[in-house]
Amino acid sequence: MKLLIRLLLPALLLLSCSRSGAPLIGISTARLASGSDCLSPNYSSAILRAGGIPVIIPTLSSAEEASAIVEKLDGIVFSGGPDIDPAWYGETVLNETVQIDSVRDRSDSLLVLAALASGKPILAICRGEQIVNVLMGGSLYQDIPSQIEGANTHRGVFHKIGLEKESILYRLFQVDSIEVNSRHHQSVKDVAPGLRVTAWSPDGIVEAYENDQVWGVQFHPESMQKENTAWVAFFRQFVRKTARQVR
Ligand code: MN
Repeated sequence: MKLLIRLLLPALLLLSCSRSGAPLIGISTARLASGSDCLSPNYSSAILRAGGIPVIIPTLSSAEEASAIVEKLDGIVFSGGPDIDPAWYGETVLNETVQIDSVRDRSDSLLVLAALASGKPILAICRGEQIVNVLMGGSLYQDIPSQIEGANTHRGVFHKIGLEKESILYRLFQVDSIEVNSRHHQSVKDVAPGLRVTAWSPDGIVEAYENDQVWGVQFHPESMQKENTAWVAFFRQFVRKTARQVR
């Protein structure tokens, strides 16, 4: 036993040292219908595989809480989830396909505003991509099948996206189009000022945007990284971006 400890201790110390300077990446929580916070483990494992330290952020109720937490972090990931109340972009609910969690809307919006104000890197995924666009002044299609004639289904499928040359995705993949997963029925309609669309689906849906601070993706790279290391590299790029800003 003593020998085992002697052998293992240097390895454990090395492991803890190699993580000690790693960036702290906050991840917005999802919620169960019961009100409990919950989150797919894919988000944390993506950040860990990319060399960051994931920190799951609980449901928040004040701007003070949000800025106190963001102050401690090096970057923030906004996770997927239900639809955003269209009141946030000046519309009423279109139909019964729109499913809202107003507690999560409030928590996420406090966190988005604090994260944007901090200037720290943001990776916004699916619902995250949508709510960041809304809070920066954009709007959404509430239901792609009801509002965009001829659109393909984006629920539970894989589809191609075309990549703009000047984008993180193109720099990473070096090809004009890639295949991504798709689990959404809403999407970005009016793109917020300051955001640049960097990927479109063949039927004209916004699938990614970026600016100097924010990377938004309509798909789920945290799921794809389990089987495709190219997506681990995507998260590594994000963690590196946050590390450059570590004080
Ligand atoms: Mn899609």
